[in-house]
Amino acid sequence: MMRSLFAAFLLAAPAPVLAQSAPAPLPQVPVVIRTLQAAALEDHLAWKITEDLTTEVGPRLAGTAAEARARDWAVARLRSLGFSNVRIESFPITSWTRGAESVEIVGPYPQRFVIAALGNSASTGPEGITGEVVGFDSEQELETAPEEAVRGKIVFVSHAMSRTQDGSGYGFFGGPRRQGPSVASRKGALAIVIRSIGTDYHRNPHAGVQKFADGVKPIPAGALSIPDAEQLQRILVRAAANGGKPVTMHLTLVSQTQPAQSGNVIAEVPGRDPSLPPVLVGGHLDSWDLGTGAIDDAAGLAITTAAAHRIKSAGRPLRTIRIVWFGSEEIGLFGGLDYQKKYGGQPHHAIAESDFGAGRIWKVDSKLGKGRESEARMLQSALAPLGIVPGSLEAADGSDIGPLIAAGVPAVGLSQDGTHYFDLHHTPDDTLDKIDKEDLRQNVAAWTTMLAVLAGPIEPEPKRGKQR
Ligand SMILES: [Zn+2]
Repeated sequence: MMRSLFAAFLLAAPAPVLAQSAPAPLPQVPVVIRTLQAAALEDHLAWKITEDLTTEVGPRLAGTAAEARARDWAVARLRSLGFSNVRIESFPITSWTRGAESVEIVGPYPQRFVIAALGNSASTGPEGITGEVVGFDSEQELETAPEEAVRGKIVFVSHAMSRTQDGSGYGFFGGPRRQGPSVASRKGALAIVIRSIGTDYHRNPHAGVQKFADGVKPIPAGALSIPDAEQLQRILVRAAANGGKPVTMHLTLVSQTQPAQSGNVIAEVPGRDPSLPPVLVGGHLDSWDLGTGAIDDAAGLAITTAAAHRIKSAGRPLRTIRIVWFGSEEIGLFGGLDYQKKYGGQPHHAIAESDFGAGRIWKVDSKLGKGRESEARMLQSALAPLGIVPGSLEAADGSDIGPLIAAGVPAVGLSQDGTHYFDLHHTPDDTLDKIDKEDLRQNVAAWTTMLAVLAGPIEPEPKRGKQR
């Protein structure tokens, strides 16, 4: 105890700070940006967009009639907000939709669980399938298991994801969903059920996409709610202890795939100099089907659009602001890929996406490239009053914009607090009531600030003549 206290004291000692030279002071922020930021903290538009979209359209699964309705809704709303060049850019996808789903333990301790099929799951058909369950604590354990342990069985895979502010557990512990179904199928499994990739203890399964690797036969794949996954683990341990009785599961996951249309919705705030590359902001319009897609990602659309609207209302920025509401993000980033195909060859001044809920922004990263350090540092300085700490000048991320970032397009990352994001993510609990209005306003203020810095000086609209 004493030793660890002493170690903690040593760690807290000021030596590392003394060893560093003091960071250069951040640049002075223009009054016009500070004024826009302060006004954005009173924003009501982001809430209105989020409420209206989640109420009037609701769930918006990629490739469905609901996603098409969402696009029409988006066009009408973006036009009524006064944005320019509002349009839908369609692209074809293969849609996946769920039907009836249920799961029960047949023996030795019969009971029902809660499950949701994962995207691209094969269908069991309405009669379902029955098989013996074999359990693994991690995707790695499944990878190393001999084929004979898996063949003809229903595989269960767990993981140890826990909460983090930056959501990094999702990437690291997402293997059971992303690779698990392909690995299980290769080893001859009948089906796979996983512990939902999430951090809550509600009896809600977390949906999410998986893609069978090329040449791998699709099998039924579903996510159990976390309490049910832990219950199944207990059942497996007790059955083994009680004379090695097999645990038998009856699983029904009905689903359907078909050719469908999706699309991106694009709108702009035209810049004073149309020859300059635009600043792109946005989120994704599609959602999973279990909730109403409030935090994922109506909030992201609403935050970025409300911010762009504030710039537009203040006048004309130097550079065009392009708002993109991407389609079909959840099932494979298809909207982002379509945008990249159409516009990836054109320069962008910067790109940024809000797709991590509606929690407060706590950090700004950017990767604007060589010669733009002063712009990046202005961004850090301008965001600091919102409680946002400067992050890396060599990093940025985003889902739909990921392929563009990977291709070297300059980007900004405004990191939201994701401590509770994976309690709700892809569950029936992703609904409007989970959004904190004050946090949402802080997001709008941050995005407004970012646009005010990156889109260049805003000049008042010239007064229109009476006749033209
Ligand atoms: Zn999302």
